[in-house]
Amino acid sequence: MLTATNIQKYYGQLWVLKGVDLEIKQGEIASIVGPSGSGKSTLLHILGTLDKPDKGEVVVGNERINFLNERRMAAFRNQHVGFVFQFHHLLPEFSALENVCIPGWMAGRSKKEVADHALSLLQMLGLEKRIDNKPNQLSGGEQQRVAVARALINKPAIIFADEPTGNLDSANARELHQLFFTLRQQFNQTFLIVTHNEELAQMSDRLLHMKDGKIVQ
Ligand code: ADP
Ligand code: MG
Repeated sequence: MLTATNIQKYYGQLWVLKGVDLEIKQGEIASIVGPSGSGKSTLLHILGTLDKPDKGEVVVGNERINFLNERRMAAFRNQHVGFVFQFHHLLPEFSALENVCIPGWMAGRSKKEVADHALSLLQMLGLEKRIDNKPNQLSGGEQQRVAVARALINKPAIIFADEPTGNLDSANARELHQLFFTLRQQFNQTFLIVTHNEELAQMSDRLLHMKDGKIVQ
């Protein structure tokens, strides 16, 4: 469902991605590990349309995403891609429920339908009692689960997670891992996860090792 071919990226003179080839299947949970600075976040941003490669192409479903213009790329990102970052990036002035709803509203869905969907996701993630709380009134684990619900709201083809457990203690990290596998079971949700967490890496269907801008194993 995602194919990347010969992805290359420069930051000025710095050659950061040196030809990455990658295929992700529907319903797969793949992890990327590798040293800091090896290009993991850069790769995730390119696959998720937050950035463009200098060479190579990315196909998600039937769409060659790096050939879209900025506007269509932004629309594609909102509707087909979910992101979970190390720091949740929730909007502090909005409630948990609103944070989950916002990408759905941006996609032009009806207010009511999005709110119902957001409620069911928050319920499934065990957050039904926290829907009116602002992010700073939630624990780190709860904030990260809200971020996962937000990533799910438009039923994305794939969720990209960049060190999603990097800011969590081990109990909360384990809970988030369980959640990823539950979502795969229930929705056949596809994940590509950058992680330093050995346990999550080992649980994945496939483990990709990145080094110096390449997938080496
Ligand atoms: P990782 O996520 O594996 O730690 P990154 O993809 O963040 O690696 O970074 C890869 C390399 O690209 C690093 O050398 C980093 O300093 C550099 N880099 C990342 N983002 C930028 C940027 N916006 N401008 C210039 N250099 C960058
Ligand atoms: Mg990184």
